[in-house]
Amino acid sequence: MLEKCEWKELEDIGHLADSIRKQFFGNTITFSKNVFIPLVNLCRNKCAYCGFRKEPWEKDARLLHPKKVKSILVQGKKAGCSEALFTFGEKPEEVYLSVRHELQKMGYASIIEYLYDMCLEALKLGLLPHSNPGVLTEEEVKALREVNASMGLMLENVSKRLCGAGGPHEHSPGKHPKLRLDTLTYAGKWKVPFTTGLLIGIGETIEETIASLRAIRSIHDKYGHIQEVIIQNFVPKKNTPMSNHPPPNPEYFSKVVALARTMLPGDVSLQIPPNLNPGYIDSLIRMGG
Ligand code: SF4
Repeated sequence: MLEKCEWKELEDIGHLADSIRKQFFGNTITFSKNVFIPLVNLCRNKCAYCGFRKEPWEKDARLLHPKKVKSILVQGKKAGCSEALFTFGEKPEEVYLSVRHELQKMGYASIIEYLYDMCLEALKLGLLPHSNPGVLTEEEVKALREVNASMGLMLENVSKRLCGAGGPHEHSPGKHPKLRLDTLTYAGKWKVPFTTGLLIGIGETIEETIASLRAIRSIHDKYGHIQEVIIQNFVPKKNTPMSNHPPPNPEYFSKVVALARTMLPGDVSLQIPPNLNPGYIDSLIRMGG
């Protein structure tokens, strides 16, 4: 299907996508001034493309303590940020005793409990917390909604195949699509403004990408809470199992962006990470991004 598109058809879908973007957003490109707080860079998952996670014995492994978090928040506030972006490894205390002990010493049973208090600190400074804590139970969504302006979780893809032997999510229990779709659903049930997204170029087929966009659309149709969908291109990172895996070519990626714009509801923003697409961002905007 899409991968067989000729340039002419690509232009057609691009024109349609661009007209949808203009109809709903005009010529406005938005961004948020946020301060990034990576609470912890240990993670229970081991995604084969991840360049963020560390093992406890690596010198860069860290769990940020409250004093450090508060200092980052204050710096962000002084720099004019409006949002505190908490993005970090998923439930590391489930697999790392050292993290569990650290959290216990600080008085928390889990990273989610700790996150709750750090969101309160952000709110005290007038920063709006946006948390990306990984998959959540319904109870965790209910708790975190009290202290978050919005939250997020990349769906990545609905393909269970990618969790199978040799797949990028083989060693990532939290990347099972059902768990992620459940989290999106809980967020919808509890009316949490939500960001999700797809990672493109990790071995998925175009049919799996289409199924993923349909799944997001279907949850949004039911609950109306998806505010933004990130279409992120895979970029190989050094020293990861996928360091030699080729990134998606820009032409293919731009088709996926246009497809997302045409399949998703017009009022849902698309985010294409500009830092991962140097030199292409203008053409991606023209494809509806
Ligand atoms: S969930 Fe995957 S991509 Fe995210 S921090 Fe963990 S290992 Fe990295």
